Amino acid sequence: MNPESRRHVTGNRARAAPRRRIGLLGGTFDPIHAGHLALGHAAREALRLDELRFVPTGQSWQKTGSGVDAAVRLELVRLAVGATPGFAVDDREVRRAGPSYTIDTLIELRAELGPEPALVLVLGSDQLRNLATWHRYRELLQYAHIAATRRGAHPLNDLEPRVEALLAGHGREALPDAPSGAIVWFTMAPVPVSATALRARLARGERPAELLPAAVLDYIERHRLYRAGAASP
Ligand code: ATP
Repeated sequence: MNPESRRHVTGNRARAAPRRRIGLLGGTFDPIHAGHLALGHAAREALRLDELRFVPTGQSWQKTGSGVDAAVRLELVRLAVGATPGFAVDDREVRRAGPSYTIDTLIELRAELGPEPALVLVLGSDQLRNLATWHRYRELLQYAHIAATRRGAHPLNDLEPRVEALLAGHGREALPDAPSGAIVWFTMAPVPVSATALRARLARGERPAELLPAAVLDYIERHRLYRAGAASP
C-alpha cells in the first residue's frame, strides 16, 4: 500500500490512518450457503469493513449436530470463501477444545490484535433476538461492536427486555470511531435460505445449486454429505 494513503495530513499535523474495522461472522455453517455470503458482502459494504472473517463454530452449545464434523464444515467455509477479496476464514473455534463461546474468541482476538482495531460482530436478527442467552453476553461489547441486519421472519423490534436494555445503552445510528461498544443496524437484500432447510433438501437428494457455491455443492456431493444416513468423510 502506498504509505501516503495511510495518512491524512492536516496542516503540519499527520493523523494516523483510519481505524481498521474487522468484521466477524460466526456460525455453524452447516453448510455455508448463499445467505451467509450475502450477509458477509452486505456487512462489508454497509459497515466499511476492511476485512470480514468467517468464524465457524467448533462445538456449538446452541445447535444440535447434523452429523457433519466441525473440520468438514470448516472445509466448506474455506471452499466458499476461496480467494474472495476482503473475506477470510478464522478456524480458532474449530481448533479450540470445549464449547465455542464468542466471548472467548473476542478476548483472544483482542489480545492478538491489540486495542486499536474495531471488531464488529455481524449478526442476523435471529441471533440478535437470542443474544441474552449467549455466554457472558453483556461483556461482548467490551471487546467488539455488534452490527445486526433483519433476517426473514425475525424482526429487529420487540426484543426481549435484556436485549432491549443493552440496546438502550449501546444503540447508535452508525459505527463510532471506537474499537468496541456500539450496536448498529444495517440493511441487506433478503436471501431467504437457512441451513436447516438446505439440509432437508440435500437429504432428499435435491441439488439446490442456486443456494450453495459450486465448490461447496461439489464437495457435498462427492462426499455424500447430508444424505439421509450419511456419515462424515
Ligand atoms: P440454521 O438453519 O441451523 O438456523 P443458519 O442458516 O441460520 O442455520 P448459521 O450458521 O446459524 O446458519 O448462521 C450464521 C449467521 O448467519 C447468523 O448470524 C445468522 O443470523 C446469519 N444468517 C444465516 N442465514 C442467513 C440469511 N439467509 N440471511 C441473513 N443472515 C443469515
